[in-house]
Order: sequence, then C-alpha cells, then structure tokens
Amino acid sequence: MYDILILGSGPAGLTAALYAARANKKTLVLGGADMGGQLRVIHKLENYPGFIGTGAELAEFIKKQVESFGVEIVSANAKMIRNKEQETGYKVVADNGTEYESRVVIIATGATPRKLDITGAREFMGRGISYCATCDGFFYKDKDVLVIGGGNSALSDALYLADVAKSVTILYRKSAFSRAEQIQVDRVNATKNIRVMFNTELASVGGNDSGLTHAVTHSGETIACDGVFVAIGHEANTDFLADTFERDVAGRVVPDGLAPGMFVAGDVRSGVKMQVATAVGTGCECAIDAIEYLNNGVAQIRYV
Ligand code: NAP
Repeated sequence: MYDILILGSGPAGLTAALYAARANKKTLVLGGADMGGQLRVIHKLENYPGFIGTGAELAEFIKKQVESFGVEIVSANAKMIRNKEQETGYKVVADNGTEYESRVVIIATGATPRKLDITGAREFMGRGISYCATCDGFFYKDKDVLVIGGGNSALSDALYLADVAKSVTILYRKSAFSRAEQIQVDRVNATKNIRVMFNTELASVGGNDSGLTHAVTHSGETIACDGVFVAIGHEANTDFLADTFERDVAGRVVPDGLAPGMFVAGDVRSGVKMQVATAVGTGCECAIDAIEYLNNGVAQIRYV
C-alpha cells in the first residue's frame, strides 16, 4: 500500500513526487512509457525561470532529483481507475499487469498531440507525417517541410526545423497569429527560410513508396514537400479514467468532481495554462494538499 500514487512523469507528476517523498510519504510514480511527458519534445525551453536548455535535459535533472529522495518510478501506464474511494484508498490497474493500492492518487497524465484528420495522414505517419519536430527533424536535413498550426508549438517547431531543413512553410487556418507569443512571431518573421501561408488548411497528403511528396490545400493548391509536422494542439490523457470523472468541454478533468484523496495536476487538469511552470506549480500544490489529507484527513483544496 502506497501513501501517494502519482500517475504521470511530466513536470507536474515529478514535482508532486518530490514534495511527497520529502514529506516521508511512500510514493510511487507510474511514469508511462515516455518519461518526462511533453518536456521531452521541447527543443528549447527558455521561459521556465532559472533554466535554459532542452526539455529532455530538465526532465532528466528532475527525475534524478526525485529518485535521490527514494521515489520509486515504474515505466507503466494506469489502465483503469474509478473515481470512488475504496475502504483504504484507491486501486489502480496498470498495463504491466500489476494492481497498485494507494491512499491517495494524483492524476498528472498530461496531454498528447492532437492528430491531423485528413486523407493520407495515417498512411504517411512516420513516413512524412510527424508530431515531434525534436524527434524527427533530423530526417529532413536540407528538405522542404510544412508545419501545420498557429500556436506556440507550431512556431517553435518551425524555428527548430528552420535550422535543419532547407525550407519551412507554416500553414495556418487564420489570417494572423493570435495565440503564439510575440517573441516567437518576431523570430519566425525574421527567419529567411520560413514562409507563412495564412488562411490555409490541408485537405490531403500524398506520396509514393519512398514517402511523402506533396500536400494539397482546401483550395486545391498542391505544395511539394518531404514532410509535414503537425502542431494543432493537444488532448488530455484521460482514456483510463472511468466515465464518472467529470471532464470539461476540452476533455480535461474537473478537479471539483474528484473523490476525497484524489487530486489532479498539470495539463490534464481543467483550466490550467499548458506551461512547464504551471505544471510544476500545480504538481506542488496537489502534493501539499495530498500530504495534508494524509496527515489530517482533510485537504485544504485550493483550486482556483
Ligand atoms: P494551441 O495553442 O491550442 O494551438 C493549436 C493551433 O492549431 C491553433 O493555431 C489552432 O488554430 C490550430 N488547429 C487546431 N486544430 C486544427 C486543425 N484541425 N487543422 C488545422 N489547424 C488546427 O496548441 P499548442 O501550440 O500545442 O500549445 C498548447 C499549449 O502549450 C498552449 O497553451 C501554449 O501556449 C503552450 N505552449 C507554450 C510554449 C511556450 O511557452 N513557449 C511552447 C509550446 C506550447 P486556431 O488558432 O484557429 O484555433
């Protein structure tokens, strides 16, 4: 029986683990297959105070820090959990075949990139369609690539790819960038091998046995390209949660509906701005609430 079981090994989950372990609580992190969560795909992190580097580097630092306080981290995913306290806490069934019991559960499972739903996108997945510029950018050295989306992820992917590829074309469905940080917009505008096509959406992608060769827009224009990097937002990882968990319209978990001893932190929590700093902040907040709950039987839950 654990005191605190944390689902997810991104910045929210690992921060919660750090606080839990330092309060001497028996803590387990079910970290999934991809340790570090969305941190792994950040090629240049420069708005997390006190740190400039890759997200993967920060993830590794935090993981080592957490392990140094004795936290157990298991590479498995929760498969099922009910939003209902059992007599002694919660039972979580994991995809490694083990059932874990814990008095408290902190859900910090983050989000995954939304998939592009157009003709050919599935067929060319991994052969031209990519959801991770950091992971796949290298394969497009001196090639022509498209980036789909107009948020911070799309612009930061485009800037990263501009250093590797011959040309980068951002396709954005609106007429101007309104979501992304201005500093990123300015950098995109100042980068010679990045072109922006506004009011443009893709209808299909196509190619041959060697991979992707072109994309076709809604207006029928064919654009020759070797790769398409998709950055059209994220969806919360909540598939393993029973229907009894309340979710908002975006599918993120509403904290007010949680049973006693259950907490939610980071990108999977409704209302949280998707930033490394907020993931760390909400992970810390949940751990403190969880520790109070274990020590006093009540949590001073302060969701704002
Ligand atoms: P996002 O901000 O939600 O942007 C998604 C983009 O994809 C939007 O421009 C959206 O268009 C477009 N889009 C959505 N569905 C589409 C579709 N089916 N076809 C074409 N385009 C589509 O998502 P994100 O960029 O992944 O960022 C997620 C969160 O992480 C944000 O809060 C962001 O600020 C944060 N983030 C921060 C940083 C940083 O701090 N530097 C870096 C990366 C991400 P519309 O604009 O028309 O809706």
